[in-house]
Amino acid sequence: MTTSSQIPQERKLVTSIPGPKSQELHQRTKAAVSAGVGIGLPVYVERAGGGILVDVDGNQLIDFGSGIAVTSVGNSAPKVVEKAKNQLDDFTHTCFMVTPYEEYTAVCEKLNELTPGDHEKRSALFNSGAEAVENAIKIARHHTGRTAVVAFDHAYHGRTNLTMALTAKNMPYKQGFGPFASDVYRMPMAYPFRWPGNPETIVEDAFEAFTSAVHAQVGEQNVAAVIIEPIQGEGGFIVPPTGWLAKIAEWCRENGIVFIADEVQSGFCRTGDWFACEAEGVVPDLITTAKGIAGGLPLAAVTGRAEIMDAVHASGLGGTYGGNPVACAGALGAIETMQSENLPARAKEIEKIFRERLGEIAKKHDVIGDIRGRGAMMAVEIVKPGTKEPDADLTKKVAGLSNSEGVVTLTAGTYGNVLRFLPPLVIDDALLGEGLDIIAASFDSALS
Ligand SMILES: *Cc1c(COP(=O)(O)O)cnc(C)c1O
Repeated sequence: MTTSSQIPQERKLVTSIPGPKSQELHQRTKAAVSAGVGIGLPVYVERAGGGILVDVDGNQLIDFGSGIAVTSVGNSAPKVVEKAKNQLDDFTHTCFMVTPYEEYTAVCEKLNELTPGDHEKRSALFNSGAEAVENAIKIARHHTGRTAVVAFDHAYHGRTNLTMALTAKNMPYKQGFGPFASDVYRMPMAYPFRWPGNPETIVEDAFEAFTSAVHAQVGEQNVAAVIIEPIQGEGGFIVPPTGWLAKIAEWCRENGIVFIADEVQSGFCRTGDWFACEAEGVVPDLITTAKGIAGGLPLAAVTGRAEIMDAVHASGLGGTYGGNPVACAGALGAIETMQSENLPARAKEIEKIFRERLGEIAKKHDVIGDIRGRGAMMAVEIVKPGTKEPDADLTKKVAGLSNSEGVVTLTAGTYGNVLRFLPPLVIDDALLGEGLDIIAASFDSALS
């Protein structure tokens, strides 16, 4: 049998999508799995590697999703597999808080070295992005002795109680799940495509709206942390205008507020830098990471200024599984791959290819209101022709058509009208081109 890293890098459809075996499995899923767990494309995966997912019917799909920006180094990436396998043979768990192991410390050393800023840093490891965000807030509150937390319109920070409170969008994330954690405030976001005012002064105007609202509604002296995604993910790959992040970071510093960059989706080479903040030279006080960190194994982290991270009393942070040794070994393999394959540079090449091809589609069809993103985190915002009115139905239709032609795509956005692309950074040019051909053809047939 070929290993996952040797899967031929080609799209192949041998049944309709989903095929008969997938459909059979999906019946079992419906009978066994909570209906609350939504499934985008019920194609059951058997193996995956590079830019290809192989399903149980023998179809080979092009992966433009990476399991939501997770398998940036590819699925079953050789270094991840090798290190995780060795770790499985050695031991699977001790709990770092009971009897520690080197792999946890080594991941923290890497995080402290790779995240923005050359100040003294510390890290702590967790299991999921939401858990990392929760802990970043805990740390910021403990350090400042304040309680209020400020988040933004279109934000996504997770699905636990506190992170639901931080997340902006009601359906599907919050509907019926309240009450939510208190002392969380939502402020306007500088969203260039939908900014109602003068685009020339968006940074100044949005910043004025932000600071005056915090002052009037919360009081700067009560704010422990401001949390922001440097490029908003689930909210629709919203890239803020240059200067916005830096202004907020500076204002936080002036007011003794911890500035948290949630890089769970944008981190680990995805945007063409190790972290999206770097494009503007912004140095966060705390940074949360997860998704791309460990090649698909569950791991998350908070990294930040030593004086903030060390302010918490011993045993104030932790958890049974946080920084599991197998996940840590996988992370060391993933980081080694990102460095040896220079994946930040590859993400920039992927951006060039996407921009060119998406530009061609936009020229042909006036339903593409905006092309945006950075690196291998690209998206189009789909609207009714000649307007900014969101067209979620067309977005769903285009995604569905490309799915049935064997390209896995994801949608996003507060208005459900963003088609987003998150290919593994190791995908080859031929697959990228073919996937984009199919996206273009899906627009053609949806609009014919
Ligand atoms: C996905 C995501 C989270 C939540 O991560 P989970 O691992 O799903 O808990 C938090 N923040 C951002 C920006 C994300 O994209």
